[in-house]
Formats: sequence, structure tokens, C-alpha cells
Amino acid sequence: MRAGAGGAADVVRKPRSRAGIEWHGERVDRLDPEVCYRALRTRDARFDGRLFVGVTSTGIYCRPVCPARAARFENCRFFTSAAAAQEAGFRPCLRCRPETAPELATWRGTSNTVSRGLALIADGALDGDASVEALAERLGIGARQLRRLFDQHLGVSPIAVAQTRRVLFAKQLIHDSRLPMAEIASAAGFGSVRRFNETFRQLFRRPPSALRRRAIVALPEGSVAATGVTVRLRYRPPYDWPAMLAYLRARAIDGIEQVIEQLDGERYVRSVAHDGEVGLVEVEHVAERESLAVTIRFPCVRALPAIIARVRRVFDLGADVASIGAHLAKDRLLAPLVARRPGLRVPGGWDGFELAVRAVLGQQVTVEAGRRLAIQLVRACGAALPAQRGRSSVAHVFPSAAQVAAADLSRLGMPRARRHALGALAEAALAEPRLFEPLATVEDTVARLCAIRGIGEWTAHYIALRAAREPDAFPASDVGLLRSAADRKGVRPSAAELAARAERWRPWRAYAAQHLWAADSEPLTGALR
Ligand SMILES: [Zn+2]
Repeated sequence: MRAGAGGAADVVRKPRSRAGIEWHGERVDRLDPEVCYRALRTRDARFDGRLFVGVTSTGIYCRPVCPARAARFENCRFFTSAAAAQEAGFRPCLRCRPETAPELATWRGTSNTVSRGLALIADGALDGDASVEALAERLGIGARQLRRLFDQHLGVSPIAVAQTRRVLFAKQLIHDSRLPMAEIASAAGFGSVRRFNETFRQLFRRPPSALRRRAIVALPEGSVAATGVTVRLRYRPPYDWPAMLAYLRARAIDGIEQVIEQLDGERYVRSVAHDGEVGLVEVEHVAERESLAVTIRFPCVRALPAIIARVRRVFDLGADVASIGAHLAKDRLLAPLVARRPGLRVPGGWDGFELAVRAVLGQQVTVEAGRRLAIQLVRACGAALPAQRGRSSVAHVFPSAAQVAAADLSRLGMPRARRHALGALAEAALAEPRLFEPLATVEDTVARLCAIRGIGEWTAHYIALRAAREPDAFPASDVGLLRSAADRKGVRPSAAELAARAERWRPWRAYAAQHLWAADSEPLTGALR
């Protein structure tokens, strides 16, 4: 069982690498005030998202890039998260808007449990009636231990993280959307409009509506399903958007998702199912603002945080690729690849079950053949979107585990053994809805997946990499990886040799894999091998 596993691993495991702590030669875990103040004085964008400054004379906290004049050194207090600044009694600045800072997940990566806890909180795990005890149980540890880990790694409690998220997300919706206040309260996970108003009055000394620009006229309640809400999600540059789109385009399942060409660039559109409702998500790159613009058309605003969390996962928005790249580039094999694609991200799966199905369909066939099988599967058992919600090109949702389990798969053009694997996967997902969430270590996650009939080591690592978002997953036996890791004479390593070499790429082996795959999919240039 998973109970206890997460906690034990956190206690005994030393950080595998300092990559997540040391960064651009500056150590930020200890928050050296001199370094922090220098970042503030120079408005150093590299610190955006990992450093927040609270000013004791004003009671306001800012991003390091705030256009306001820097406060005096003795009035500054420094924090590594907005939640910590807020818990210390500071309120968010209305000029630099801390809610728009890039949200970095992986650099806090010394504790898997904390990272997973943050991801679950982002999904709404502490909204409504949910308790820290229930969250801790999902993570396989006790509530006290969870609080201790949060305090140790983030300097705040899980509740404070959730509370800050709610306030900042609500503030973003007030500024950027036309949602009515009652729906913002609901979307941000406040139990009631009264709680929402109280929290804002306490924090900003005015009601939430006073924070909204006059030019913004709220829409009638319930109209979001048709008009959509657009939010901007910032990332830490660089971001290789063409590589991300190319990945998605090559695997796009007709009817479910599409990359649409338009005059000013391309955007990605897909259908989304959540808690029995269905809708549509569109994602565009806004390079000059270092962000993605995400438009969500969904009947229920409560689903917004969970949908946004998925977008973050799919587009790998939380990665600090500069730090990861610096770590990987220490290896001769990877250095030229990282130099060539400094902004490369690891695309994630939209949904655990969907991704696992894709992995099984892709076993031992090309990407294109796997894609065609997925299209067949959607035609056989995917549900149609209501006409007013879909588009002509995206009109279906990916089938659920129950639909796949009940479907006649004999018409799919693939070997019987793989059809059985698909059925076993659907049964396993029905029996354990959290099957695709990460466990304490990547090894635990892989072992649980390998217990499913028809899922081998390669598939399990692939699912861990894309669905569980394990930054250290590495399917060492992958043909593309072996080909890409060949020496100058073209001699490929064995899977065991590649796995041995990859030890030094920890804890970012998934990023190494992505770089190797990217290099493999382009014409050989010789010099790079
Ligand atoms: Zn500010």
C-alpha cells in the first residue's frame, strides 16, 4: 500500500541534486538578503516567481520586477512564495500583481511529497469542505508530517498556500475577465460570496468589486459557457513554443484536439471533460508577455482551477528550464542539444487515463500509427460534445475508462494482446481512479503501473513521464532515445548502458529524454552526435 511510503522517503532521502536549489550561481533557498535586495534594485526578472518582497512600511508585497521604487533595505522582508508573504501579513501589490508571476513548481523539487501536495492544492484539494487530513491521506502521510514538510520546504502551511491561491486567482479574474463577482468567488474556491468579500476586505481594505477597472463590465451570470474566460499564464522564459506545438500536432486526435493555423500564429484547441461536464479549451502563445493565453468555455466556473492546472501540466509551465538545462549541459552528450533548444519543455498528458491509452496504442508502432489507432478508438466509443459547445473540428471528448471497458475493441486494427492490455488498463483505472497520480518516488509509480497486464517498463516510464509528470522518469529502452544517444560511429548504447549514463541526469531525466527525442526526430547532422 502507499500509506507511509511518501513520508518515509522524504525523511530518509537526501536531495538528489542541488540543481533545484542553486540557481544562476545564486543560492536562493537561504534567501541571502543582500542577494535578494540586489535583485530587487536591478528588477532582475530571473528572480520573478521565486522571490517576493514584503515592505514593512507599507504592508504590501511585490514581485522583484515591480515598477514601483524599491523600498529601503531595512524595510524589506524576503519570501520564496506569495503564500509566505501573505501569511506574514503582507497584501499583494496592485501594480506588479504577484498573481501574475510565473509559477515555478520544479525548483522546489527536493521533496516529491511537497510538489505533489502543491499540485493537488492547485487542483482544488483544499477548497470547499476538504481538509488537510484528507490531502495528507492522498499523499500517503499524516497531516502533521505534511504540515512539517510544507513548513520546512516552503515556510508556510498547506492551508495558507490554498488561501493565497484562492485570493490571487480571484484577483486575476477580477482584473482580466468579465465574470460577475459571485462566479469569481465560486471559481476561486471560496465557500461563499460572504467569505470572498470578507477575505478581500481584510486584505485590501475594500470590497472585491472596487479592484475591478471601470472599463470592465461584468457579464450576466451563467454566460461563461458561451463566451469563455481568458486567463494569462506566465512562464519563465525561454519557452520553445514551436517544439511544443509540433509535439501536439503530430499526436493530435481528430475530433478531440487540433492545432489551428491563423494569421498571427497558431493555437491549440481541445475538448475537455471534468466532473461529468464538457467544454473547450484554446491555448495561444503571447510571446511578448511571456505567457500563454488560455480561453476556457465550460458550463461550470468551479472547474476553472482544475482545468488551468491541467493546462499548466500539458504545457509544462512550471519548469525552470534554465536551471534544468544548466544541470543537463554538464554532460557532453546533452550540452549541444540543450544549447540548441534552451526552451524545450516536457509536454504532459491532458488526462492520466487518456495518456495511458495513448501509450498502449503507441507500443511498438510509429507516432502516426498510434495516432490513427487513437482516432479509431474515439470514433468507436468517444462521446459527442453538445453542438453549441463544440466546433466543427473538435466535437468529441476522449472516452472514459468506463466507456473503453464497455466497448467492443475487436474492430481496432491491432494485435489481440494489445487489445487486452487496453481492456486491462481500463479496468485498472476504474478500480483505482488515482492510478496515474505519482507516488513517493518514480520507482514506486512505475512499479504500480507495471502491475497492470500488458504494461511493461517502457510504457510505465512513459506514463510516469507524461501523465504523472515525473521529472525524473526515463524510458531507457526507447528506440528513439537509444538512437539519439549513439556515439560518433553510430553505435547505440544498450538500454542498461543508457540508464547508467542517465544516473547523472537525475532528477531531470525526463528533460534529458525530451532533448534526445527532439534530436532524434530531425535529420542527422553528424556534428551533433
Ligand atoms: Zn509591486
